[in-house]
Amino acid sequence: MPETHYCEVEGCERPAWRACGLCPAHLKRLQRGRPLGGPIEQLSPLERVIIAGSAWLEADAENDDQYAARLRAFEATCASWLRSKGWRPPRSSMPHNPSATV
Ligand SMILES: [Zn+2]
Repeated sequence: MPETHYCEVEGCERPAWRACGLCPAHLKRLQRGRPLGGPIEQLSPLERVIIAGSAWLEADAENDDQYAARLRAFEATCASWLRSKGWRPPRSSMPHNPSATV
């Protein structure tokens, strides 16, 4: 059963790319020739979407609970990113509103 891989850098708890064992931020550091140690900058809302999206793509397709949980987490992260851009959910899209059918 595939599991989420975490970054190999000590103290880093981010999900990592399976191929290199590093999270996107530490991979970027490696590619730029910067030292891997030390704190990573705060992730932007869009970076969080990318990480949540790749975690969802790597979810075990046979594990319905994990798949659903990661999809919900991805959706919440997307909503948070969109809110950071000033988006608000439209009221008219509220599902199953009985008063809307009257
Ligand atoms: Zn890392």
